[in-house]
Amino acid sequence: VNTLEVPVLIVGGGGCGLSSSIFLSDRGVEHLLIERHASTSDLPKAHYLNQRTMEVFRQHGLADAVYAQGAPMDKFGHIRWMTSLAGDGPLDGRTFFATDGFGGGQLRPRYERDSPVLPANLPQMHLEPILREQAERRATPGRVRFGHELVELEQNDDEVRATVRDHDGGQTYRVRSRYVIAADGGKTIGTLLGVGMQGPTGLLDLVSMHFSADLSRWWDDRSLITFFLNPDGGGSNWGSGAMAQAGPTWGAKSESFNVVFAFRPDDPARFDEDSIVPRVRELLKLPDLAITCHKINHWIVEGVLADRYRVGRVLLGGDAAHRHPPTTGLGLNTAIQDAHNLAWKLALVLDGRGADGLLDSYESERRAIGADNVDWAMFSFLNHGVVNAGMGMVAGAPPDQHAQAFHQFFADTPMGATRRARFAEVAATQRVEFGAHGIELGFHYETGAVVPDGTAAPERDPMGCEYTPTTRPGHRLPHAWLVSQGDRVSTHDLTGDGGRFILLTGGGADWHEQVRSAARALNVTVDLVRVGPPEGGATEPGGDQGWDYQDIDGDWTRLREVSDRGAVLVRPDNHIAWRSAGPPAGPDALIDVLHRVLGQERS
Ligand SMILES: Cc1cc2nc3c(=O)[nH]c(=O)nc-3n(C[C@H](O)[C@H](O)[C@H](O)COP(=O)(O)OP(=O)(O)OC[C@H]3O[C@@H](n4cnc5c(N)ncnc54)[C@H](O)[C@@H]3O)c2cc1C
Repeated sequence: VNTLEVPVLIVGGGGCGLSSSIFLSDRGVEHLLIERHASTSDLPKAHYLNQRTMEVFRQHGLADAVYAQGAPMDKFGHIRWMTSLAGDGPLDGRTFFATDGFGGGQLRPRYERDSPVLPANLPQMHLEPILREQAERRATPGRVRFGHELVELEQNDDEVRATVRDHDGGQTYRVRSRYVIAADGGKTIGTLLGVGMQGPTGLLDLVSMHFSADLSRWWDDRSLITFFLNPDGGGSNWGSGAMAQAGPTWGAKSESFNVVFAFRPDDPARFDEDSIVPRVRELLKLPDLAITCHKINHWIVEGVLADRYRVGRVLLGGDAAHRHPPTTGLGLNTAIQDAHNLAWKLALVLDGRGADGLLDSYESERRAIGADNVDWAMFSFLNHGVVNAGMGMVAGAPPDQHAQAFHQFFADTPMGATRRARFAEVAATQRVEFGAHGIELGFHYETGAVVPDGTAAPERDPMGCEYTPTTRPGHRLPHAWLVSQGDRVSTHDLTGDGGRFILLTGGGADWHEQVRSAARALNVTVDLVRVGPPEGGATEPGGDQGWDYQDIDGDWTRLREVSDRGAVLVRPDNHIAWRSAGPPAGPDALIDVLHRVLGQERS
């Protein structure tokens, strides 16, 4: 049996595995990726890429390719609730409520203020080929292998031994690696290692159809998703559904759509697939619509979290570690952000600069986020029941009760106005899904590769919408635009894609010696970045004041929360490792901090 030795084996070529490959290549880490399918997924699946994911993609030179194929913001930053798309009955084609979402419309200035990038929308079937191409381009040739399946895995203290089957020919080979990233969606490795998944499963069967149809006469040009509530439905059968643009063209001219119906997992009607095309025509009230069905799919909704993210030398990420409803789009986004958290740590551990304990911080940091995101996805999913109830729809109620509620809703009467006003208030609570700016950017690590400074986290918006930037350790680096020699860069651009730590300072104290002695003691590069004031500071590197960048709008000075003599240590993933409110506390201040961040004992 052939044996291949490689530092890291990535199992799974979905969003988590392909991103892991790209991030590891960018940090110079050799690896092998195996994916059992011959190609990337042909299902639209997840599509909303939140700002944090796009920041990660920007750091790794992927964002432009995603924006180029994705929907422009003005074609997806909006959501509607309707009775049907068309039809000429009194209750047909009526809009209950419409709102901005995903950073569009009125949300846009806030989203633009808080990040160098806007969210994107690109279904997985279009995103994964971009990631695959980039993974193949950046990895050692032949090391991204589709049609190769992991069949066995065992590990000891020193290594992991995997058996892989090549589907093209059927032969098996061995892979010996120091670490394995289990990005297999939970299909194989978790079970092999006895990882328990905690939380409810089998909640609903989401039956979806990806199809092409020309809806340009009816689909509004800016809505990503339209929810259809039908008086004949009960909220959870063929009578009501959600439909999203699926590209590759966008807006009203979207060539394809994905429609989703929710069933109880034991409802026999869920397999009534032969009738799905007429059902969709009925839902839209377009009886003659030409529909080309591409694929019908079942997705069982769960709300589960792995009891461990690390089992020895195996690290679980993405759906292997957490599976939850699609609301708030946290599945794929969390998967890519898991990969990003892990890649720099693996790179440092493999070249000996980080201790093995640094990998424990992957679990303590990301499992806490996984738990929060499972909860949030469940909450925002179930809130649709609240919204439907606000419309007067009660699960199990007879159709005429719903029909009556709908007639009253649209009636030109004082009570109709009251019902509409109530629904506007109730439906606005679904911003926990469509405007979760605070969830998307405000998540942070309380314990892990961070050195806390004893301060409390900023107050959290209970609805998850408000994001409060802070340089408190564990939080994401606040974004501010800086200028150097006429170039505008974000604070997020300073770490680069190669895995640098940076120390952001003002002009009040000299941190040079701290950085130099840390580099000598730990062999870790920390780039000192001196940001000068908005006015008066030289804009040239090493200019009069020695600034590297000028805080052109004064934003960084406002956001940094440390004095001009202090410093903020930023990790390669743009999370804050540590901050000093004032000048260095002693000659080894930074060395002590880096020992703790890298998981090393001080010798
Ligand atoms: C039908 C469907 C619809 C979805 N819709 C949405 C949505 O609308 N919004 C949303 O946010 N999320 C959605 N999701 C969830 C989202 O797709 C996942 O959260 C995301 O794909 C997670 O990425 P991943 O890389 O962790 O896992 P996956 O995308 O599942 O990738 C895992 C990969 O590992 C491979 N693999 C498994 N076992 C092995 C093995 N032994 N050897 C080699 N390879 C292996 C699999 O073939 C697969 O390609 C949907 C999921 C499904 C299935």
